Amino acid sequence: MKITNVDVVLEERPGFSPSFVWRKNLPGSDGSSTGAWLVIETDAGITGFASAPRGVIFKDYVDRRFRSEFIGQDPLMREYLWERVWELDRIERFAPNMTHVFDVALWDIGAKAANLPVYKLLGGYRDSLPAYASTVTYSSIEEFLDIADQALALGYPAIKLHAFGDAKKDALLGEKLRAHVGDDVPLMYDGSAGFDLEDAVYLGNALYDSGFAWYEEPMREFSITAYKWLGQRVKIPLLLGEVTDGAHMSAGDFAATGVATSLRTSTFLRGGFTGAMRIAHLADAYHLRAEVHGMGLESAHLCMAIKNTTYYESLIWGNPMKREALVDAQGNVHGPKGPGVGYETIWAQSGVPKGLEKYVK
Ligand SMILES: [Mg+2]
Repeated sequence: MKITNVDVVLEERPGFSPSFVWRKNLPGSDGSSTGAWLVIETDAGITGFASAPRGVIFKDYVDRRFRSEFIGQDPLMREYLWERVWELDRIERFAPNMTHVFDVALWDIGAKAANLPVYKLLGGYRDSLPAYASTVTYSSIEEFLDIADQALALGYPAIKLHAFGDAKKDALLGEKLRAHVGDDVPLMYDGSAGFDLEDAVYLGNALYDSGFAWYEEPMREFSITAYKWLGQRVKIPLLLGEVTDGAHMSAGDFAATGVATSLRTSTFLRGGFTGAMRIAHLADAYHLRAEVHGMGLESAHLCMAIKNTTYYESLIWGNPMKREALVDAQGNVHGPKGPGVGYETIWAQSGVPKGLEKYVK
């Protein structure tokens, strides 16, 4: 099989409302933005798709670097092409949230060629997994408690907070939420790098006292040493490695130094399905968990293929909040049907994104 065409179709996308704030004194996550769909056509009549953020920048990468690299290549040679992206990265220093896009489209092609959903081509491990409700930043502790009630009523068995980014206020939220939902609901906390070491220690100890299951990325992940010092001062499990560059090549140090209780893995920040599975297997070598980051079909496939993972991250927003379409009334996500990633099954209901019509069979 050979790649015959590489196209990029820009798409306007809404943001989250309310947004993710993550820390004091910052505006938080995007409003609406321009994303992109990558399209890879082949001489076998199979077309692969993948979604990219920051569409204008991604299109520039494709126009200057990727198109000429990929046309004429065998799309089933995913390992080779994954390494080529990292070679080009040395020249370009791609945004870490864009190194995965080609890999996802190549797995879409490979799984379609095998007439399988991606997770079965990766090596399926399960067919369903519980989802946790992963919140945006609501306005007050009272609103968070109301949202927790809504999430539990909709079937979600566990809740993760993206809170105010204020160590004292977030500690109080954790305490109030635990008292509100009782001892049996698993709670997690995602700091999204909002803190320095002193505040991260304070909040980590408070969340431990409130029985939180994990403490995710409280500081920027530039310094393993800073995390080592944090680990010496808190007892709460640390889930790390969501945003470091270099996929398994950086995740390795979080595991080998003993800093991370569990590693983060994802398609969209960790090098696609190929990078995500490398991280999962690396973690498994040390009997660590590799928790899948982020929602959507790609994450659902990873959740079905990775043995050492425990939850699917289902982002919730709005008030009243809605249950994500991929999650059922019991709070479980299921193996996407495919073939491939299965974007076409979603588009059959929601409509094909504008500009992709000619590529969707
Ligand atoms: Mg996170």
